Amino acid sequence: MVTLFRGPKSFTGEDVVEISCHGSNYIIQSTIQLLIKTGARLAKPGEFTQRAFINGRLDLAQAEAVADLIAAESESAHATAMKQMRGGFSKAISELRDQLVHFASMIELELDFSEEDVEFANRKELKALVKKIQEVVDRLMHSFQLGNVLKNGIPVVIAGKPNVGKSTLLNALLNEDKAIVSDIPGTTRDSIEDTLNIEGVLFRFIDTAGLRETKDEIEAIGVEKTRNKLAQASLIVLMFDLTQESQESMNNQIQEIASFDTPYLLIGNKIDEVDSKTFSTPEEMVYLSAKTGQNLDKLKSEFRKRSNQEILKTEGTVVTSARHYESLKLTKEALERVVQGIDENVSSDFVALDIRQALAHLGEISGEITTDDLLANIFSKFCIGK
Ligand code: GDP
Repeated sequence: MVTLFRGPKSFTGEDVVEISCHGSNYIIQSTIQLLIKTGARLAKPGEFTQRAFINGRLDLAQAEAVADLIAAESESAHATAMKQMRGGFSKAISELRDQLVHFASMIELELDFSEEDVEFANRKELKALVKKIQEVVDRLMHSFQLGNVLKNGIPVVIAGKPNVGKSTLLNALLNEDKAIVSDIPGTTRDSIEDTLNIEGVLFRFIDTAGLRETKDEIEAIGVEKTRNKLAQASLIVLMFDLTQESQESMNNQIQEIASFDTPYLLIGNKIDEVDSKTFSTPEEMVYLSAKTGQNLDKLKSEFRKRSNQEILKTEGTVVTSARHYESLKLTKEALERVVQGIDENVSSDFVALDIRQALAHLGEISGEITTDDLLANIFSKFCIGK
């Protein structure tokens, strides 16, 4: 069956034909061979999206969102990509650009009259505008952290002494044997990462080598890594072996975890062996058995509950791409030079130059300003046929 999409309303903006046929490899290959024989060629990775971009159907940020949409592993990542594809981000950027373009042209006009010392662009207004744009750029840059979390999963670190059951819990959560479980303390030497989708929210679980002070060199590297990961996590899960733990050691560990300024969740493990021995903790503890799976559902809903705040914050525009973040950073730097230039009364041509640079970096995001290398780099990451 052949479907014809007439340009300019097709995805690429050109006339496009889609062929639907039986799924056998033989039939597909024969059809492709026949088309090639009569003059067609295979599409390059992302070529359809690239054509849509070149023909003005999508801007660059929207085109990149297509790739994010295909790669989305959770409802929240999907929603963020959809928002970007519909143009929310691009609209915010182009509004900032339009306002700046006005001042850039005014200042450039001054250059034509440089002999006469006139000022078309009101410096006070320009400075106020630049400050306003800086605030938006800051907010977008700040959203990158959240964007990253939505795209790659909320980082959850599981911490606790060796043998409390961290690997067992991770295995139970992920339902597969990714981590090594053993009775020898300190066997989880390296960090193991995996993602889990709980009710549409992606979590990235990071197992650690534990916080125990150690003379074992390999494990010491693990402990250093643990500290780094704890600092970067959105949530720390601190796990205790209820059959072994003393109140004093528990207090010490909680104190240490609390020093990271990251939200934490306390888990008391191995309730299959102890009669849910109660400890006094500053926050409520989830009692469970990683081995039997008892109360694992309770833990999952606790994760989901704690992610709500992060998800709620996604109402505005969220930056998910490192490339966009980089362009925003360069924009911010150029804008800082504009303000400095105005404050120090430097000549118009320098101010104009910095404004142009800020415009160029903003333009890189939506693709108003591109290089072939940049485009090749972006679209080569797409799959063929997209
Ligand atoms: P890790 O060093 O913290 O990663 O601990 P492991 O996951 O390797 O577990 C250490 C030992 O505790 C293993 O023998 C597990 O089978 C055992 N274990 C883990 N969770 C439980 C549990 O809920 N109940 C019982 N009885 N044993 C557990």
